[in-house]
Amino acid sequence: SGVLYLVATPIGNLRDITFRAVDVLKQVDLIACEDTRHSRPLLDHYGISTPTTPLHEHNEDVASARLIERLQKGESIALISDAGTPLISDPGFPLVRRARSAGIRVVPVPGPCALVAALSASGLPADHFVFDGFLPRKSSARKAALEALRKESRTLIFYESSHRVGECLADIASVFPADRRLVIARELTKVFETIIDTSVGEALSLFEGDPNMRKGEFVLVLEGAPVVDRTDGLTADEERVLRILLEDCS
Ligand code: SAM
Repeated sequence: SGVLYLVATPIGNLRDITFRAVDVLKQVDLIACEDTRHSRPLLDHYGISTPTTPLHEHNEDVASARLIERLQKGESIALISDAGTPLISDPGFPLVRRARSAGIRVVPVPGPCALVAALSASGLPADHFVFDGFLPRKSSARKAALEALRKESRTLIFYESSHRVGECLADIASVFPADRRLVIARELTKVFETIIDTSVGEALSLFEGDPNMRKGEFVLVLEGAPVVDRTDGLTADEERVLRILLEDCS
């Protein structure tokens, strides 16, 4: 059978594409695009004339089944999304699942990814992190999701569109302590790239005071909860429980 390539494409700057990505996109039989019209300028820019087919969230199952048939016949297919790495808050998961269970070779061609770009430039710990994608749209569900992460000590990363980033910052402020660091990465790799280093308490007013912030794409990188230093001794509660346990043992 053929090979399924997962090809990362730019998240803004057209030049952020690897030599290998261009080679693969030229060589495969077919490119499955989240939006064929959206990808056209990129493909044209690099002189890629490979046929394209749509694979988006509304046709994913049917389209994936068809692509698997073609792969099984020996064709090679590349999957690209509108931006960045396929499957990362983007379509492709059913296709990759099916390809794997059908024993088709799946080859990643790595490259840009907004969460990695934002995290690496954030100045927040990048050795352990939680990427939570898009938060729920409804405020009640969003607050519940944030609440569940309040004690998380790893750096937290969220994707957000310009429509909801204000509401999202307000909800973050209602759940997390005001002094937590928060980095707002906007329009990465694009002309108006802005990386704002602020705090949970100040983020919303900073955001509301800048009309440019109404537009664009955002990654929010939030400092994790302080790690409790276990060498500091036990809390009063822990000490009480331990004493009871020890009494039981004696
Ligand atoms: N697959 C993509 C990736 O690898 O990053 C993410 C796709 S997801 C549908 C789109 C979201 O990614 C945006 O709403 C935004 O949160 C984030 N994003 C994508 N490009 C960005 C950029 N240039 N600057 C900041 N955030 C970006």
